Amino acid sequence: MSRKIGIVGSGLIGRSWAMLFANVGYQVVIYDIEPKQIESALVDIEQQLKKLEENGLLRGTLNAEQQFACIRGTNSLEEAVKDAVLVQECVPENLELKRKVWKSVDDVAGPATIFSSSTSTFLPSLFSDHLKNKQNIVVSHPVNPPYYVPLVEIVPAPWTDLAVAKKTRAIMEEIGQTPVSLSKEVPGFVVNRLQYALLNETWNLVSDGVLDVQDIDKVMSDGLGMRYAFLGPLETTHLNAEGFIDYCKKYSNTIYSVSKDFKPLEKWEGPQVDEIAKQLEKLVPLEKLQERRSWRDLALTKLSQLKKSL
Ligand code: NAD
Repeated sequence: MSRKIGIVGSGLIGRSWAMLFANVGYQVVIYDIEPKQIESALVDIEQQLKKLEENGLLRGTLNAEQQFACIRGTNSLEEAVKDAVLVQECVPENLELKRKVWKSVDDVAGPATIFSSSTSTFLPSLFSDHLKNKQNIVVSHPVNPPYYVPLVEIVPAPWTDLAVAKKTRAIMEEIGQTPVSLSKEVPGFVVNRLQYALLNETWNLVSDGVLDVQDIDKVMSDGLGMRYAFLGPLETTHLNAEGFIDYCKKYSNTIYSVSKDFKPLEKWEGPQVDEIAKQLEKLVPLEKLQERRSWRDLALTKLSQLKKSL
């Protein structure tokens, strides 16, 4: 069976995927429309792998040099995708571009290659209906930074062969990610549906002046989020009573009556946007965003180490 992976688009996410596939020895071939991007991706990946090794954070059993030797670049799309077991597309989030790129891949890849897109927002049916191998399309949506946050949402189009979705899941497990398999495509997949439910309620609570921005974020970072890093919301309910049936008996009326108090959906527009931005920029000024992102990534690294040690 082929051990080749084609990566199309070598930006932030393409680089992460390349490292993840190489950590178990897949032969990764990176293509980008910008040859300079490939060069800088290879330099960046080599540095990242070395740093991970130095800090004892390298995944897999191969050393950094061996992992890097599994990755190469090419200026030919055909060379990247031909006979690959899976092509991971990581081009910018633009529907027309995704349609065009997948058509080009479809023209040169064989019928046994899985077509896997990193898209965060587009349903797979939107960019695969015109492909001759459309039964091979799936979305494999990672969460940033994928090296430390292992979740991958696997989303089929209505015409995706079930065996393709299953094989994609098996490959994701093999590289050490945590796949979840949606039975059908739904807008926002699942990560963003859950995220937006939470964001909508934070918007309403801040609009009503119940909590300010700093305190509402603490409810997650120093409250619910502490649990959710280890247990999902459903298992949390199971543990918070004598099992889920007992939880429903005890709390279903409360959940129902509090939920009836939720406000109708609002668009994120108007003076409230400026007010929230003002409070956030006081906490993290725009010129400090990069510094704070680095701190977030360090915190996620330590959390992933803790999770592995439990
Ligand atoms: P990016 O802008 O960092 O990288 C995109 C790369 O694609 C660039 O190197 C660009 O040169 C290349 N490219 C553009 N057109 C191309 C073409 N026709 N053929 C080949 N390469 C081409 O973008 P990113 O942040 O890595 O995002 C890539 C995908 O991953 C998007 O669909 C995005 O929604 C998804 N995603 C991003 C994140 C994130 O946090 N950045 C998280 C999950 C999913």
